[in-house]
Amino acid sequence: MVAPLYLEPKLDPPLTSLLASASLLHRLVDGLGSPLNVVVPERFAENVTRFRSVYRRHRLEGTVYFAHKANRSSALVRRLASTPAAVDVASLEELQHALACGFTPDRIGATGPKEPEFLWLAARTGATVNLDGHAELEALAALVRRHGLPRTQVLLRLSDFSGPAVKILSHRSRFGVPAPELSALLDAAERHRDAVEVIGVSYHLDTTSLEEKAVALEGCVHAMDECRARGMRPRVIDIGGGFGVNYLAHGAQWEHYTSQLALAAMGRRQALAWRNHSYGLSSEGGTLRGTLQLYPSHRPVAGADYLDELLRCPAPALGRPLATLLLENLYDLHVEPGRALLDQCGLTLSRVLETRREADGTHVVRLAMNADDCALEEHGILLDPVLLRRDRPPEEADGSAGPFGVYLHGNLCLESDLITRRLVFLPRLPVPGDLLAFPNTAGYCMDFNAHHAQRRPSARKVAAYRDADGWQWRLDDQYWPIHSTGDADEI
Ligand SMILES: *Cc1c(COP(=O)(O)O)cnc(C)c1O
Repeated sequence: MVAPLYLEPKLDPPLTSLLASASLLHRLVDGLGSPLNVVVPERFAENVTRFRSVYRRHRLEGTVYFAHKANRSSALVRRLASTPAAVDVASLEELQHALACGFTPDRIGATGPKEPEFLWLAARTGATVNLDGHAELEALAALVRRHGLPRTQVLLRLSDFSGPAVKILSHRSRFGVPAPELSALLDAAERHRDAVEVIGVSYHLDTTSLEEKAVALEGCVHAMDECRARGMRPRVIDIGGGFGVNYLAHGAQWEHYTSQLALAAMGRRQALAWRNHSYGLSSEGGTLRGTLQLYPSHRPVAGADYLDELLRCPAPALGRPLATLLLENLYDLHVEPGRALLDQCGLTLSRVLETRREADGTHVVRLAMNADDCALEEHGILLDPVLLRRDRPPEEADGSAGPFGVYLHGNLCLESDLITRRLVFLPRLPVPGDLLAFPNTAGYCMDFNAHHAQRRPSARKVAAYRDADGWQWRLDDQYWPIHSTGDADEI
């Protein structure tokens, strides 16, 4: 058999305590069905506090906007409303949801492509609009005039920044206006100054590279200079999201796993994944080709720590730390973390339906969910699930001790419905009725991809919270912040 390769998930409180409550989790799935998503509002509020403490450390003003698109939960957005954070909405429906969850429009930013109805409601209520380009600016200005809406505060989203001496180019983005074309956009904003007020500029880069983000942030400072030279009074630089999550407990396991993937792609060891899938790597005459199409599941610096590191980076041209540049100009810093604010905020549970031994000694474990109910693979995140045995303590000896290499298959009549394409190693072989818990799925993996194929309902979601009697739960839409003790708040 293949030597076991583990990718143990990073587990922090209170998720550790929830996972230790196996009988509660079994009862929840018995009552509410498989799969089941659990969110932890208490930890969400704590993550806001972590970001706020980076602001304090650098003496910066500004606001943390949660990128709502990363999770549909009502419980989480309601809990967020009782923290100092704001929310970033990317659709008419998310805007309506944020308003209904208790956010006043001064704490709402609207991003993403926007249809007229979305623009109207944002402008009508007074949310800040993060404009994607010329057409949106024209559409918004026309709506404001035609419908007598209040003058709308806007940010101008930029992309395609280029560094000075060093040749660092930011990733091309489908969104925003290329930074070199800012002047023409400002011409238009000046023409529409009765309808819109430019309060600043923004970017969102889907990259892990600090260098690229430093170039973009400094580019925004230059863009603000240009606004000021025209007599505008901009005060906000919004640096988007992408602060990342560290999903794995051990960097060494990740290093080892990815080097074994490379060996497998070159045919120098047994395959690690279903039908020799190699996550983007291949071999050409014995040379490794391609790039690993995976999220860097182990990230030593992620979330609020990543923001801290970015703010300490020297500005590529001016040389002073980026935080200093912001302070000197008295600019507010806005951030829009999605994934990072949801770190350790939830898990996905699935019932084991069947375990089948394959001819090569591996096993197939069929789960009562499909690959889009827990889209770890889709998002390139590799981590091991936690086995929650039914009616048995985790360590009880009963002849099932492994380790066992298993493929996790979904419940759709579709060859490609694999929860994991890679061989996952479990300490024991699951039996029907056991649960597998996939930790840390709240960011994008829980409901972003969920659908109703085969007329299956999508997973229910519950909010878990603690009181003096231990863990309690409510259906996601029945939870309000009055139900947790909420000591993580800061005002
Ligand atoms: C998706 C998105 C975010 C959040 O990105 P994360 O990687 O989840 O932090 C922030 N801002 C914008 C404009 C986005 O599209």
